[in-house]
Amino acid sequence: MSRTADSWFIAFSYEQVFQISEKQYPVVGVDLGVKELATLSTGIVFPNPKYYRGNLAKLKRLSRTLARKAKGSKNRHKAKIKLARHHAKVSNLIKDTLHKITTYLCKNHAKVVIEDLNVTGMLSNHKLAGAISDCGFHEFKRQLEYKSKKFGSQIVLADRWYPSSKTCSNCGHIQDMPLKERTYSCESCKFSLARDLNAAINLSRLASS
Ligand SMILES: [Zn+2]
Repeated sequence: MSRTADSWFIAFSYEQVFQISEKQYPVVGVDLGVKELATLSTGIVFPNPKYYRGNLAKLKRLSRTLARKAKGSKNRHKAKIKLARHHAKVSNLIKDTLHKITTYLCKNHAKVVIEDLNVTGMLSNHKLAGAISDCGFHEFKRQLEYKSKKFGSQIVLADRWYPSSKTCSNCGHIQDMPLKERTYSCESCKFSLARDLNAAINLSRLASS
């Protein structure tokens, strides 16, 4: 048994090049969203990439074209290939963007707190209707998981019902926060902060509690 475990471990460490890095921050909370791709509790923001909007529009246009072509026709076949190619291009672009974020997170933070979103949760609250939903939250999480091993950081998953957006990061008061509300203005302590940053700060606190 231990032999198996040993050889597994050797194979594992051989394949993965560890680059344990010195961490600039002990903890970071990450709020994923529509307006910005990711907002960190440290104040750093990763905006939605510029290529995203135009490419998304093209994606919609191509799938409409496909829908209009007669079934079984040559033109339909061509349209299908065009759509598939563009789809692959967009998802590669998004993957690259996610790689930049996940590397930055795991390299510079000892603990990274993210919301544990699942697919149903994502569809029901349009929170991730932006770039991340296309590539999948799973891809983001997958990258974080292997990079945390590589750089020696720890991923903390917040319960997906944790009200990170609704909680005041100053006093802990909880209030409704419709998506259009971009600023958290606490009804209790009058504290006011950008919605995403407020959520990211709340998430970061879960690492130490
Ligand atoms: Zn408050």
